[in-house]
Amino acid sequence: MIRQYSGISPKGDLLLIQRLCEKLKGRSFLHVNSTREGGGVAEILHRMIPLLTDLGINARWDVIEGDAAFYDFTKKTHNALQGNREKFTKKMWEHYYEVNRKNSRKIDLRADAVLMHDPQPAPLIDFRPRSRKSVWLWRCHIDVSNPMASVWTNLKKYVVKYDAAIFSVSKFAKSLPLDEFIVTPSIDPLSDKNRELTEREINEVGRRFNIPRDRSIILQVSRFDRFKDPIGVINAYKIVKKYNDCILILVGSPATDDPEGEAILNEVKEYAGNDPDIHILMLPPDSHKEINALQRMSDVILQKSIKEGFGLTVSEAMWKEKPVIGGGVGGIPLQIVHGVTGFIVYSVEGAAFRIRQYLNNPDMARRMGQNGKEYVRKNFLLTRQIRDYLSLWYSTMHRGKNVIEL
Ligand code: UDP
Repeated sequence: MIRQYSGISPKGDLLLIQRLCEKLKGRSFLHVNSTREGGGVAEILHRMIPLLTDLGINARWDVIEGDAAFYDFTKKTHNALQGNREKFTKKMWEHYYEVNRKNSRKIDLRADAVLMHDPQPAPLIDFRPRSRKSVWLWRCHIDVSNPMASVWTNLKKYVVKYDAAIFSVSKFAKSLPLDEFIVTPSIDPLSDKNRELTEREINEVGRRFNIPRDRSIILQVSRFDRFKDPIGVINAYKIVKKYNDCILILVGSPATDDPEGEAILNEVKEYAGNDPDIHILMLPPDSHKEINALQRMSDVILQKSIKEGFGLTVSEAMWKEKPVIGGGVGGIPLQIVHGVTGFIVYSVEGAAFRIRQYLNNPDMARRMGQNGKEYVRKNFLLTRQIRDYLSLWYSTMHRGKNVIEL
């Protein structure tokens, strides 16, 4: 399986993975998160676990199980860690711990390396088997740079017990009394979301969703969330439309765990009015091939967020050689090198200006798209993330005295 990445991923990454696996072969690597389906973490784990197994690592993935009160609580902590103010009681924290205690009896925590994803399973560190030498890593996928203080204080009690913490973007990290590493997320070039598609496959999706293919297509793929600024995208499109004939596609999935999503979707639909050139598509969460095709048939792809985690849709678009425009927030500027792999914008007018620049200069758009693909190849493919996790595991295992003062 890993062989399939040869010729796609950088050779250096594959070599390092191979060398590290020679050292780590036969050892066990456990990942724990809170959901099997939905969300970027699950999407990556679905692909990463079989690859690790193929490499000779005894990789496992377990999912922590809780009741409704647990998920309510963890959703609240998620929001509070990203800066919202929420109400918490001592009882809620006790319940969180209790759910983790129960899970510690169900999940086999005996592994050479354990990677806990996000706050939900963080207290499992208290149930770390003492009998074996292992490496425990806490991986944070969210922006904890400006959290509600009391929530972070409570969570930190567990985090500091790990051997190391991993964050996605350096500005999301905290200053902690343990080793800290930055590992950016990644996309899988061979998944249905990103693999090459034939013209036939692309056209079939276009027909299925009644997308006219005779004009320029502007696309944004994202949950219906205010932070993704769908209204701003419509406003930018409306400015562009005065000069360039084009259509706008907004793709999202039904918001099962997000009560706000429905309201925002209705707002967006109302705002779009009866413009036949605005296509709002609600797709089931597993519409990977459909999203791939929609990205491939587009001329310009936006991620006009005003707040963002990493923004993997940007790398997805860049991998397809599309000219991209993104808001200058979260991980977007890590992916878009302004003027080289895309444009960073801070306003509706800025977005409209850059869309027109792309539409009026197809050669430049093509060049930026090509730059984007190479940038993703070097930095944001799944193999790079596997390389990073294995290096981190191996180096933490052999942690000695610091040779440099940091
Ligand atoms: N996505 C999807 N269907 C949708 C909207 C988004 O499959 O209707 C995918 C998208 O392709 C990307 C992920 O969900 O892989 C969103 O990740 P991102 O980091 O861009 O944003 P998040 O939703 O995590 O804030």
